[in-house]
Amino acid sequence: MARTAVLGLPRVGPNRELKFAMEAFWAGRSSIQELEATARELRRASWECAREAGIDVIPSGDFSLYDQMLDTAFGLGVAEGDYFAYARGTADRPPLEMTKWFDTNYHYLVPELRADQAFTLRADHWTGPLREAAELGIKTRPVVIGPYTFLTLAKGEKPPLEALVPVYRELLQALADAGATEVQLDEPCLALDGVPAAYADVFAALATAPIEICLATYFAPADPVVFALPAAEIHIDLVRAPEQLEAALASVTGRLSLGVIDGRNVWATDPDLALDRIDAAVAALGAGRVTIAPSCSLLHVPYSAARETEIDAEIRPWLAFRDEKLAELRLLADALAGDRDALLEPARDVISARRTSTHTNDAAVRGRVGALSPADYERSAPFEARHAAQRARVPLPELPTTTIGSFPQTAEIRAARREHKAGELDVEAYERFLKGQIAEVVSHQEAVGLDVLVHGEPERNDMVEYFGEQLAGFAFSRFGWVQSYGSRCVKPPILFGDVSRPEPMTVRWWQHAQSLTTKPMKGMLTGPVTILQWSFVRDDQPRSETCTQIALAIQDEVRDLEAAGCFAIQVDEAALREGLPLRHADQDVYVRWAVDAFRLTVATAEPDTQVHTHMCYSEFNEMMEHIVRLDADVISIEASRSDMEVLDAFAGELDYPNEIGPGLYDIHSPRIPSTDEIERLLELAEQRIPRERLWVNPDCGLKTRGWAEVRPALTNLVAAARRRRAAV
Ligand code: GLN
Ligand code: ZN
Repeated sequence: MARTAVLGLPRVGPNRELKFAMEAFWAGRSSIQELEATARELRRASWECAREAGIDVIPSGDFSLYDQMLDTAFGLGVAEGDYFAYARGTADRPPLEMTKWFDTNYHYLVPELRADQAFTLRADHWTGPLREAAELGIKTRPVVIGPYTFLTLAKGEKPPLEALVPVYRELLQALADAGATEVQLDEPCLALDGVPAAYADVFAALATAPIEICLATYFAPADPVVFALPAAEIHIDLVRAPEQLEAALASVTGRLSLGVIDGRNVWATDPDLALDRIDAAVAALGAGRVTIAPSCSLLHVPYSAARETEIDAEIRPWLAFRDEKLAELRLLADALAGDRDALLEPARDVISARRTSTHTNDAAVRGRVGALSPADYERSAPFEARHAAQRARVPLPELPTTTIGSFPQTAEIRAARREHKAGELDVEAYERFLKGQIAEVVSHQEAVGLDVLVHGEPERNDMVEYFGEQLAGFAFSRFGWVQSYGSRCVKPPILFGDVSRPEPMTVRWWQHAQSLTTKPMKGMLTGPVTILQWSFVRDDQPRSETCTQIALAIQDEVRDLEAAGCFAIQVDEAALREGLPLRHADQDVYVRWAVDAFRLTVATAEPDTQVHTHMCYSEFNEMMEHIVRLDADVISIEASRSDMEVLDAFAGELDYPNEIGPGLYDIHSPRIPSTDEIERLLELAEQRIPRERLWVNPDCGLKTRGWAEVRPALTNLVAAARRRRAAV
């Protein structure tokens, strides 16, 4: 019999219990014991759910109070003491850098290593949950981030890979002593370019431990070296990289775990497609050497599609979240051994219903995309001419100050939105409330002395969901939260059909905000790549095609804002980089269509309309030529935690020609930067980029911060800009 396995489970809770428990603890409203009790309860519920679904191999140790990389750092003795201090920072210590987990929208904390780094095992991070599950009568397979991935994703002065062997051997021994018979060693970095030949020796040294190792790769094709390793089991992602199956079957010596159910998306699995792969594996290896699994951890999908009773009844059956994916796993294993046609009939019906649905096709959208020509991707004047026209239209001081868009989403705002959604606050009252919020944000910015203002985005729950809700082609879940980082969750829209914009989405808010001030008010839009990247996207046509449709829909909004008199329009592309395929060979094609989509979105803007874009990350090194090709008039980026080093890429040979606003205030931390600190960052920026091309702004939007932090921080930001203006 083939067995079923899950690599990891969502952990934030079906109703975001973990988020609320963490936030209560941080706010001093509850004890660590209460937080741990919530966490224990969530783990129990996950394990029992997997057991009830008939899953053979259930993971443990994949749960985390904040992040699995931080946990691993603690488990290996790289971090110690106050756990949340690493994640959130303290008055005198900034938090660890945070960055995207591969090409997902999950963020991990980057462990910092020293040259003389010692590794000291604290096995209880893994043995604790293993025993906890055992007490519930559930046998689990501990999940451990492997040494190569840990080292690759860490930063600082890294020791050689071999230096981690003793601590990992000790860990494997400790797991065996605690009763585990197998361990899942997650090595997603083995699916990236540049796997060192030395990995084979390191793995061989681990494989002698008295425990079976399931070596898990995902998100891209495993490096061929993987298939020759003496692993009890190797897991491969056949959703992202089905082409690797043949090579794997030809080489593996143990079990092969087939990632045939998409762990990154929400669509029901085509059982016949999955079974084609499973059948091939069974034919080559025998059923006893085959494991059926999702492509990766289910961390990246929500809990239950069955709860989403508000989604159109035609579309809902097309969806599969955690619960449905677990059932699919069981179904595939049963179908392998049983009466296939009878078992699969309902699933096959769903697949063919989706394929033939009229919900997914809009002839007008297809016609508009089909008629595009290269000129549709070009603004009508080059940057120099646009720059002059913009300065003539709206003179700004040197080092203009601005923010990225959102202001604190206070409890008051969230409560009003909740009441409005629940029907307790009617449209007029809600809109009046929002206008009042906008007025406060505007007057605050005027008081602080910012130069280019924003309306603060109080009407937006989320920068993607807000637009998705107003665009045709999207569906929305009520409970479809997935973890983004720590206690932060996102609820990605579900993009199921052709996309268009029935009506203006932001114009009236912008108009209201601009009516309150003589300073320029930025229009604030989310770009097509980010909408694509942060949605669960249809998998029945190329992503590039879907992205072009979104670009045209947002272009309609750019036009309407401009017609309403908007001078500066920011099109956020926070997720441009995270969409980058993990393998170099695939990157060029992606970047080309992604940048094209941005260019298409803003191409119709007049030369004297200032197009801003914003990207909240700080790794641009291999991306610079593409960032240049975006040709935004102003780009704001995340920079504060990198000490402005990110600007080296903009100052290098390429000499980025347009304007740049490096983030000078780390909004991911509750710390308030002093004027001196911001001034120092600004000086560092000026050493790299001429002052004429610099803007002054925070790293990202302020929605997650409180007013008590934002007020002084922005005051200091403006003060720092004024000091630098005065300095010659
Ligand atoms: N305009 C958005 C905001 O300020 C941008 C957020 C982002 O880049 N993640 O919230
Ligand atoms: Zn951002």
